[in-house]
Amino acid sequence: MKFQPQASHFIDGAYVEDSEGKLIDVIYPATGEVIAQLHSATPAIVDMALKSAEAAKAEWAALSGTERGRILRRAADIMRARNYDLSVLETHDTGKPIQETTVADATSGADALEYFGGLAGSLTGEHIPLAGGDFVYTIREALGVCVGIGAWNYPTQIACWKGAPALACGNTMVFKPSETTPLSALKVAEILIEAGAPKGIYNVVQGYGDVGAALVTDSRVAKVSLTGSVPTGKKVYAAAAAGMKHVTMELGGKSPMIVFDDADIENAVSGAILGNFYSSGQVCSNGTRVFVQKNIKEAFLSRLSERLANAKIGDPMDEDVSFGPMVSENQLNIALGYVAKGKAEGARLVCGGDRIDGDGFYMQPTVFADVTDEMIIAREEIFGPVMSVLDFDTEEEVMARANATEFGLAAGVFTADLTRAHRIVAGFEAGTCYINTYNLAPVEAPFGGSKMSGVGRENSKLAINHFSEMKTVYVSMNDVEAPY
Ligand code: NDP
Repeated sequence: MKFQPQASHFIDGAYVEDSEGKLIDVIYPATGEVIAQLHSATPAIVDMALKSAEAAKAEWAALSGTERGRILRRAADIMRARNYDLSVLETHDTGKPIQETTVADATSGADALEYFGGLAGSLTGEHIPLAGGDFVYTIREALGVCVGIGAWNYPTQIACWKGAPALACGNTMVFKPSETTPLSALKVAEILIEAGAPKGIYNVVQGYGDVGAALVTDSRVAKVSLTGSVPTGKKVYAAAAAGMKHVTMELGGKSPMIVFDDADIENAVSGAILGNFYSSGQVCSNGTRVFVQKNIKEAFLSRLSERLANAKIGDPMDEDVSFGPMVSENQLNIALGYVAKGKAEGARLVCGGDRIDGDGFYMQPTVFADVTDEMIIAREEIFGPVMSVLDFDTEEEVMARANATEFGLAAGVFTADLTRAHRIVAGFEAGTCYINTYNLAPVEAPFGGSKMSGVGRENSKLAINHFSEMKTVYVSMNDVEAPY
């Protein structure tokens, strides 16, 4: 098989197999072909990975931040040098077009390794002067063994967004990719070793949800960082709480994008395309509720339809292809199920809506108009290429409707009136907001959700606080006064 790794898991610096584990078929979404077969981790594999991470943590945390950072930056360089090969692997794992994977996956992982590698040497505590010459100093310490659990849409990026800040702070990690896309995290682990990382600081175990659950409940684990859906997030958060573990939850969304009638229509249409159809719509922060001011609705829809007709759908390995298959037949059926619900509820199908014939899991980019707030397609996360266009009259009305959701991952506004833009983003109940663009997530900026969309932030300096804790040291320069 074309993409068969040496073994299923990467533990203590080497590939490890235990064929007792349940079989995982890795399927190329463009053809339905099995491209690799792995085994889910058995309890023995989970234990081996945690033991390895536990054994590696003291030595890793004892290195200077600069030394740790150097390894991460070297890993970033290796990833960049191998970007094309890693992108081919990512395309086969996820079905995303090579046009996307060459610019948004290994490169984004490398950005995280470089950024946190650069920060590692600057992580410090502080000195706090007190009365009478006493003072406090704080020591920033690693948490210990961290568990990362990934979704299937950005496997390399997620493996690095979690691994890089964890390792920069001196933690070790056991990472479990989604069983749908298990291949590229193994490459991240290999590259770290090649870059000089001590064995055991970044282990990868494969598996279904039960493997994730075993990791989350283990008493050796200090922190859990999950990227996944809200229902999984609730389970993982509750399990982590029982052990008082630190958590970061990057969960789903149903984000609003508001287009006012003074907006540059071409830019707004571009934003709506990026925020609904990139990665075949399988992006957590997508702006899937597109609120368009009533007087420009038809102009917006006709320009959107024209532009969507230019999407090149096909073989994701063809560099001209801009729209690939969905990750799995299951995800395709979920999205098609929502299309049926949208039609049944009376939304107007503007374009798309069907599966594309063939062995791959392709679906047409789909737009519904005249969607109302109560419709299921406007309330639930679809995680596929299905855009809902809703119309509105006033700013006050659209603000309230945009926030009327349990989710709060992202939100965007397109308008030429900058005062209004800032007023709108101040009112958004969302972790990441956009003015006149959509869905950019540079490593320098915090990323994460409010409300049911998550807890904590990834990327930026803020991620450091989620992978380290402060020890407070009170130093007395005076005699100790006791009452008796
Ligand atoms: P899931 O929630 O189904 O799974 C996420 C991960 O959790 C998988 O690795 C899964 O394993 C694992 N898992 C499942 N059950 C448990 C459990 N009880 N304990 C521990 N781990 C468990 O999400 P998907 O993989 O389907 O990804 C899509 C979702 O991810 C969407 O809702 C999307 O919005 C969200 N997402 C959020 C992002 C963000 O940054 N906010 C970014 C990308 C996606 P297995 O797959 O084997 O079941």
